[in-house]
Amino acid sequence: GAVTDRPEVSVIVPMYQEEANVRPVMSRFLESLSSQRRSFELIAVNDGSRDRTGDLLDELALNEPRLRVIHLSRNHGQTAALMAGFWAARAPVVVPLDGDGQNEPDEVERLVDQLEQGYDVVSGWRRDRKDSWLRTHVSRCANWLIGRITGVRLHDYGCTLKAYRADVVRDARLFGEMHRFI
Ligand code: UDP
Ligand code: MG
Repeated sequence: GAVTDRPEVSVIVPMYQEEANVRPVMSRFLESLSSQRRSFELIAVNDGSRDRTGDLLDELALNEPRLRVIHLSRNHGQTAALMAGFWAARAPVVVPLDGDGQNEPDEVERLVDQLEQGYDVVSGWRRDRKDSWLRTHVSRCANWLIGRITGVRLHDYGCTLKAYRADVVRDARLFGEMHRFI
């Protein structure tokens, strides 16, 4: 349909000092999302970067109507950047993806398929993590602890790749490093 139609999925990409990743990551996301069944908008949130992240995003958006760019006045952190994207989203479903290329955009379709089976949130899981041994093990302990405290059982709370109903996530009041608990 026309570019003014409400998209079916809003993909939110927080970006802080990602100038080296803007072009490769955005073109990969656009290519992957274009091959999926649902219409989409890509919302890049420039989280007060002091490098060329913001300029490069604006440049890409000139020729790509499905890309929208939000600039935060200073660095507010990943949680606030995501919330800015959630609030700007026009689709009924929102999917955050990391702006450093660590999430696989091909997974978006399957996550949203699952969400449409009647869920409010569907969570990704970094099964083969490309992080250091230390980080992976610290996060394994954190996952265990969060599971014990919250009673919500997930493999990987820290995985950004999730699909949410937009109206559900907008009700969450998040700050600090709370994106891990969305
Ligand atoms: N990010 C952001 N603001 C920040 C820090 C990070 O928007 O203050 C973005 C960053 O550009 C990336 C995503 O959030 O797209 C995840 O950040 P990072 O890769 O540092 O997190 P990790 O992979 O270590 O969890
Ligand atoms: Mg990362």
